[in-house]
Amino acid sequence: MTRPRVRPATSRTASIAAITATTDTPRRRTTRSATPRTTGQPPRRTTATDQRRPRHTPPYTPSVPTTPPIKAARGVRDILPAERAAFAVVEHAAREQARGYGYQDVELPIIEPVELIERGVGGDTDVARKELYRLEPHGDPGDPPREIRSRPPRFRGDPGDGDRDSASRLVLRPEATASMVRAYFQGGLNQGPQPVRLSTIGPFFRHDKPQHLRYRQFVQFDVEVIGDDSPAYDAEVIELTWGWLERMGIRHVSLELNSIGDENCRPQYLRALQDYYRPLKDQLDPDCRRRVEENPLRLFDCKEPQCQPLMAAAPRITDHLCGPCAAAFEEVKSLLGAAGLEYRLNPRLVRGLDYYTRTVFEYQHEALGGAQNSLGGGGRYDGLAAALGYPGTPGVGFAGGVDRVAYMLQHEAGTITPPAVAEVLVLPVGDGLDRAASQVGRLVRAVRSTAVDYSSRSLRAKMRAADRTGARWAVIMNADEAERRIVVLHDMVSGDDRHVAWERLAEAVSPSPSAGEGQGGGE
Ligand code: AMP
Repeated sequence: MTRPRVRPATSRTASIAAITATTDTPRRRTTRSATPRTTGQPPRRTTATDQRRPRHTPPYTPSVPTTPPIKAARGVRDILPAERAAFAVVEHAAREQARGYGYQDVELPIIEPVELIERGVGGDTDVARKELYRLEPHGDPGDPPREIRSRPPRFRGDPGDGDRDSASRLVLRPEATASMVRAYFQGGLNQGPQPVRLSTIGPFFRHDKPQHLRYRQFVQFDVEVIGDDSPAYDAEVIELTWGWLERMGIRHVSLELNSIGDENCRPQYLRALQDYYRPLKDQLDPDCRRRVEENPLRLFDCKEPQCQPLMAAAPRITDHLCGPCAAAFEEVKSLLGAAGLEYRLNPRLVRGLDYYTRTVFEYQHEALGGAQNSLGGGGRYDGLAAALGYPGTPGVGFAGGVDRVAYMLQHEAGTITPPAVAEVLVLPVGDGLDRAASQVGRLVRAVRSTAVDYSSRSLRAKMRAADRTGARWAVIMNADEAERRIVVLHDMVSGDDRHVAWERLAEAVSPSPSAGEGQGGGE
């Protein structure tokens, strides 16, 4: 049989040089010869194998742009394959971790009524005041006439499907917990066994000033336990999410812990906070001056340098907890200790959203630093359901920043290697091989991911590209061999080449131990 005009080589790069050295001759892209590149034989007659695709005639010439290129909106970004690989690891770990603790996956809407968010996270939080993406109201042509839109609410404040007025004021969701609680009631999950453990992963939107690791669209991993107020669930959520970071090998993370009391003890603490801050108002920034009277707990969200020393000396909420809140906090700490989790008590941790009661926690990464050092956090929200108009129901949850954790994986742990574009690349050399190449691709794809390079580039260029994509094998085809239904199988790691019949190609690259890594099937 005819030996292929390819030479074994010892390294990926050397093998490319060798494989193309005898087969490539300079040529113009637009006037391609019908001569098979791998045999150097004279032009041959057109055969049934030839399926000339409509080439770009006249030769394709890119048009000159007449307008500036359209770019993504500010603060949002594309997650391209290299980064997507890290996202996939983070999301997979999240799903496995949630499943391991019995949490069920849900998917929730990206648009929600504005009231859900304002009454959920609190109208005075940064998230609701400054960062909400509010959608322009517009009439839906399919809507029924206004008079027949409403139905009576089932219980106080039930937003229901009849309240179409609120549906005209929609926002892009900035967080998941309020939606989770809404879905829990709206879907009747409150009627089944309690508590209900739910998890989700998806995009969220906040119109904040974009910075490194602070985006206007970002992805969160969210878990919630709704329907039981035992502190054991607080500890479970912390253990689950700690384990999520741990199983990805993310280190140098500190767990910050606090309790912010409940409706019994917090009012008294807020008065103590006002008493402390009122004489200091002129040292505060305008936002904080307002917060002293309107929502003193939000003073702890402030990032202004001038407010930091005052915050450090402010009264501590943990000194004002009522008996039940103090007991619950002790229980959480004791359960975390029993689980072997180290934490740092941080009496200034309040977590930026109004719905929290009792336990709040946050994972901070020392390498991130600054305002963006939080990888995730959460807490208990026993008053949230009632604030949304549903029957009072306790809950506890967590939201983790997938973008930030993926960044840590890529840049700190350095453990992510982007996957190969495909394990096998089929490289037809010469015109008229598209149909044969796609057929060979189909045969190999049964056992390995396979891409076909239909471009009109030289074999040398195709081999270089194959090397850069990390392919494990190249399947080189020329017209003569295609007629005989054989190819050259090139091992991109060892540089070995051999002829393989189409029918034995799948077996030759099969991952099964019996066939070995490309050991079987040679001719
Ligand atoms: P939060 O819902 O504010 O408690 O945020 C939970 C986690 O989501 C944070 O710890 C971050 O990791 C992530 N996160 C929040 N906002 C952003 C943002 N604008 N860009 C990227 N990640 C964010």
